[in-house]
Amino acid sequence: MQLKKCEKCGTYTLRDSCPKCGSPTKTAHYKFIKIKTEKSREKCQLDLV
Ligand SMILES: [Zn+2]
Repeated sequence: MQLKKCEKCGTYTLRDSCPKCGSPTKTAHYKFIKIKTEKSREKCQLDLV
């Protein structure tokens, strides 16, 4: 399982494309702890459920 992030809207997902805007995602190497904005955290949690 590999966490990825959309660089366009900042959504975290496990997919190769963003579920929100459809843009291709990049692998996110950093940890969840470093996620700063609450919005990103919410999206991340939704994607990982
Ligand atoms: Zn996106």
